[in-house]
Amino acid sequence: MPPTLVDHLASCPTSAHVAEYWAPLLRKGGFVEFDDMTPINHEVLQAGFALRAGSLVAWRNMQLVTEYGVRLVGAHTDSPGLHLKPRQGRIAAGQDMLDIEVYGGPLLSSWADRDLGVAGRVVMRDGSSRLYATRHAVARVSLLAIHLDREVNDRGLVLDRHLHLSPMWGQGEAAFDIWLANEIGVDRTDMLTWTAELVDTQPPGFIGRNQEYLASARLDNQVSCWATMNALVESTPSRPSMAVLFDHEEVGSASATGAAGPLLEHLLERLSLLAGNDRDAFLRMLRQSHCVSADNSHALHPNYLDRHHPLHAPLLNHGVAIKTNVGQRYASSVESTAPILEAFERIAQTPQWFSSKNVVPCGSTIGPVIATRLGIETVDIGIPQLSMHSIREVCGRTDPDVLRELLVAYWH
Ligand code: ZN
Repeated sequence: MPPTLVDHLASCPTSAHVAEYWAPLLRKGGFVEFDDMTPINHEVLQAGFALRAGSLVAWRNMQLVTEYGVRLVGAHTDSPGLHLKPRQGRIAAGQDMLDIEVYGGPLLSSWADRDLGVAGRVVMRDGSSRLYATRHAVARVSLLAIHLDREVNDRGLVLDRHLHLSPMWGQGEAAFDIWLANEIGVDRTDMLTWTAELVDTQPPGFIGRNQEYLASARLDNQVSCWATMNALVESTPSRPSMAVLFDHEEVGSASATGAAGPLLEHLLERLSLLAGNDRDAFLRMLRQSHCVSADNSHALHPNYLDRHHPLHAPLLNHGVAIKTNVGQRYASSVESTAPILEAFERIAQTPQWFSSKNVVPCGSTIGPVIATRLGIETVDIGIPQLSMHSIREVCGRTDPDVLRELLVAYWH
């Protein structure tokens, strides 16, 4: 049984959890793990994967890459949020406080007055590392009472990133690392270092009169990660097919494991060499390749109709949108759109289209980064959602499955 989207969202509080979530499922599906430290062997071409911190690359049929090029589907594993700084221990007004750093561009107000847990990775002295997530709430960022800021509803809530976003997490001066070691059941002296992010403890849930919507943290972009990996694991594509889940999209993709780093290029080159290509054939292979970049799109907001262009504003539960921007904030071109339009036809679905209103700045994603780094024709697509970058986003219930089917058809 493939994992459900709800299970994925509930099991993956951080980008590293997303990448590691798929490793056992890939192994079970016959994918061979490619460890960077050991020499690559031929077996790995047929079905393999590489896991690097919060990023994951998995592929099928790379032995055929010389003839056909590769069809890539890219998505990102990270979501905006509040991460803990490495040193903790501040006390204010008698409360133990956690000092945070803002990761990416969260809707800050949505993080206030929520019951927050903590998730991340610990690295042990023996060189091993493990992911953790508290299942219960331990922290809270409290808003100021309206009696102490009477104009807030009319003026708008302004949160200072440094002053107003620290959660309180108890009373009694327990050091964070001692608490963490205890929480995850390891000896503090065996623990070398750790990362920690705040996470909403409310599980994903279907809402609406007939449960038409899915409300959850991290829909951007775990919906696309889930659909991509499901499509790769469950289907049997005949052509070379590769799923690439990158970390650090929300902070610009420039990192060792981000889309602007060398991860994908190095892997493609090594697999291409293993398939018998020389450098010239590798470069020709890139020209024959194609990429779908899957990342959520803004749905038409019923209370803010004026923020959208009416013919280019996707609706919830109406399927997947193709995203365009002539300024190349999205990589879609007339050439790169053709293969995905064929896939839409194959599943008898009509694409929605997203183009931002000319006076509203356009977002971006990993599509243009992959196109720029590797010169691979890329099309940007995504399911529509509301409240993007809120701690609790919402999308249509049926759209994630349409995306999964579309990617199966694209890889077929
Ligand atoms: Zn995104």
